[in-house]
Formats: sequence, structure tokens, C-alpha cells
Amino acid sequence: MTCKGICIRHKAQKPVGSGRYASGQKRCQICEIFIKWDGLWCPCCGYRLRTKPRNLKYKAKLRAKVAPAPVLTVRKR
Ligand SMILES: [Zn+2]
Ligand SMILES: [Zn+2]
Repeated sequence: MTCKGICIRHKAQKPVGSGRYASGQKRCQICEIFIKWDGLWCPCCGYRLRTKPRNLKYKAKLRAKVAPAPVLTVRKR
């Protein structure tokens, strides 16, 4: 999985007024580029494209989901 230079042809311009992901652009981690592409996989290197931003809010949501239920302490007499 390496960059073959094909992604340059699909390179997306930075949108004005909205986010890259919001305007349908996808990020390739291998090519380190934002491209305008309909598929889930990079047409250049074949790696899975990122369609959602990796921000702290998203991470926090995930963490909240997997957080264990509070343990109730039982007092013994
Ligand atoms: Zn590439
Ligand atoms: Zn790529």
C-alpha cells in the first residue's frame, strides 16, 4: 500500500464555509491528501478512506459507550 500519484488527480480543494468531510471529501492516511472520491477505498493506494473527522467529541462519545456501569458497594454488617 503505497502512493502511486493517482490521488493528485482527485485532489480536493479546501472548501469555503464548511468542513472537508461535510462537503464530501475523504482523507487518505497513506497519501496524506484529501480527495473527492465516491468510493470507500483510495483509488491510488487502495487504503480505506476516512470519512469522519477524528475529533475529541467523537472520542468522548465512544469512551462513554464503553465505560463500565458504576459499581455499587454493599456494606456488610
Ligand atoms: Zn496517492
Ligand atoms: Zn491513498
